[in-house]
Amino acid sequence: MTPTPMKEGSAAVQARRVLVLNSGSSSVKYQLLDMNDRSRLAIGLVERIGEETSRLLHTPLTGGDAETRERTGRIADHAAALKAAAEELAADGLGLDSPELAAIGHRVVHGGLRFTRPTVITDEVLTEIERLVPVAPLHNPANITGIRTAQALRPDLPQVAVFDTAFHTTMPEYAARYAIDVETADAHRIRRYGFHGTSHAYVSRKAAELLGRTPEEVNVIVLHLGNGASASAVAAGRCVETSMGLTPLEGLVMGTRSGDIDPAVTFHLKRVAGMSTDEIDVLLNKKSGLLGLCGDNDMREIRRRIDEGDERAALAFDIYVHRLKKYIGAYSAVLGRVDAVVFTAGVGENSAPVREAAIAGLEELGLVVDAGLNAVRSGEPRLISPNYARVAVAVVPTDEELEIADQTFALVGRAESAGQEVPVGQVDN
Ligand code: AMP
Repeated sequence: MTPTPMKEGSAAVQARRVLVLNSGSSSVKYQLLDMNDRSRLAIGLVERIGEETSRLLHTPLTGGDAETRERTGRIADHAAALKAAAEELAADGLGLDSPELAAIGHRVVHGGLRFTRPTVITDEVLTEIERLVPVAPLHNPANITGIRTAQALRPDLPQVAVFDTAFHTTMPEYAARYAIDVETADAHRIRRYGFHGTSHAYVSRKAAELLGRTPEEVNVIVLHLGNGASASAVAAGRCVETSMGLTPLEGLVMGTRSGDIDPAVTFHLKRVAGMSTDEIDVLLNKKSGLLGLCGDNDMREIRRRIDEGDERAALAFDIYVHRLKKYIGAYSAVLGRVDAVVFTAGVGENSAPVREAAIAGLEELGLVVDAGLNAVRSGEPRLISPNYARVAVAVVPTDEELEIADQTFALVGRAESAGQEVPVGQVDN
């Protein structure tokens, strides 16, 4: 479905709200933002879609107290989820039929090599996102469902795809290619794409701001440590290396993913342990990482167990930190000069012990953490290295939804301010 292009002077030109949708296989997260001041008007989550125990949590943020409303009971599919979210928004006077809504921005996990920028979604763009399903079977189908559902809700509105892979498309060929047979790789589009790009882009820019410099002036290593985790090396604002690859399985130890392993482990599991490909997929993506190592994937619980003397939890923590250190060292070598190492996402923003352990012993690389600064809890970007340190160590809270809203609004707004129709049908390169 192709949205009707908007013309300059239409009522929608004044529209300054953006709805951000992050559609997973059984969940939809949404945020409505006012782009006048980039504030949140409401946030929400629909989870366990399709199950009897579906739940919607909706928090309007326009009043004084942010009180979360909850709906429980089966929500059959993504269309029903978005309808329920729209009803909650309407109850707060923020209905999605409002002329103030300028666009809907969608997180799309895989944009392959084609989508290097946010892109207004047309039939042709959607077909291309569908063509990428074989390389992103777990993610792109849910994103496509989210897009189709939103299009049905507001067919007149520009819908923009913001790709997790886009920021990494600047990686040089020697970093993006696996050393496997070129014809086989190309025939099946096997290469390193990287993910979490929206977060790496946002955090690396914010880190430069924290240092009082422009992104072009600094080289930074970003450590996005959430339940999924990835590292990136960003030189002068451009990604030159990242730890996730063809899929989000490669790289760091994560909550439930193994990260790097010898690929021969999979042959071994097949030939010797008799496991099927699907079973190995589940093992490495869902039952490995911290969970596989110690039975917990939440860093808070792991730290609690370590404090009680639990050795399995301690070993899981050490393996997690060891991998992080290897990547910090490797990316220091890739960048040559590093201005900052930046921690972000759930673990990176909140776990002082992880930050301390990951940086410990790296004085030769110019990296030191100040224990007092590291212990401070704050939602603001901050330095945790002492003044004398050669390389800054920082904590920068990520905000993928704000980045998606900014990119969506910039793309829609740019066309309008130039007096053009929103460039539907074109890939914005
Ligand atoms: P994310 O995927 O960015 O939402 O991160 C989720 C993960 O962050 C959780 O699984 C926890 O391991 C971790 N996390 C969240 N809060 C804390 C905290 N206060 N201390 C340590 N880890 C935390």
